[in-house]
Amino acid sequence: MEDKTKLMSTKGLLQSQELYEYILETNVYPREPEPLKEIRDITANHPRCLMATAPDAGQMIAMLLELINAKKTIEIGVFTGYSLLLTALTIPDDGKITAIDLDRDAYEMGLPVIKKAGVEHKINFIQSPALPVLDKLLEDNDNKESFDFAFIDADKVNYKKYHERLLQLVKVGGIIVYDNTLWSGTVAMPEESVSESLKAVRHHTIEFNKFLAADTRIRLSQVPLGDGITICRRL
Ligand code: SAM
Ligand code: CA
Repeated sequence: MEDKTKLMSTKGLLQSQELYEYILETNVYPREPEPLKEIRDITANHPRCLMATAPDAGQMIAMLLELINAKKTIEIGVFTGYSLLLTALTIPDDGKITAIDLDRDAYEMGLPVIKKAGVEHKINFIQSPALPVLDKLLEDNDNKESFDFAFIDADKVNYKKYHERLLQLVKVGGIIVYDNTLWSGTVAMPEESVSESLKAVRHHTIEFNKFLAADTRIRLSQVPLGDGITICRRL
């Protein structure tokens, strides 16, 4: 495996890096569409390349999108577009993704690959903080309960606020996936052993996980893929 790509894969939660690489090499990479490999290669040149969605988590997201025949989706946290492109490649040709991120430069890094893959027409990229965009969407009744799927991978501090809005935007039976819900495994570590840089988000993630586990409006499954994803189905 190429070094930079290897660096991007060192975020599995499994205790054995070899086992994580085994899963990637055996199941994930051989089935990963070529444009996603290209976005991974481009992203490896970004100083914050570790932010990209883990390919093993991506594979599960694509399966979920297919299982529910998702057509209209929303994504918060695009970065260079790995999860966005994987969604665009999976939903039908007349599907639509509302993709929100503060950072247009990162999106533009991956955009040539998205264009080459012929799926740009499915994407409405909005450069903005996500919260006001969600509130704006909710002003129009037609948007309520209209989304099949949401993928949330941005500022963890706001996950709870996003959740309340997404429960109004996503239809019953629709799916919301939250990324990084095991936060490098720190959620189960004593606070004093956690590095300063991870502490604040660890706290929010622990609170959010508790909140989701008690939320009777959803069915949920926390899966240790990538950095942990929580799959919620609106009841
Ligand atoms: N899903 C992406 C992928 O597959 O590469 C990775 C997303 S990255 C972990 C998080 C992104 O969230 C960053 O690009 C950042 O600019 C964006 N972000 C952070 N806070 C945000 C906010 N309040 N509203 C919208 N986007 C935000
Ligand atoms: Ca993430």
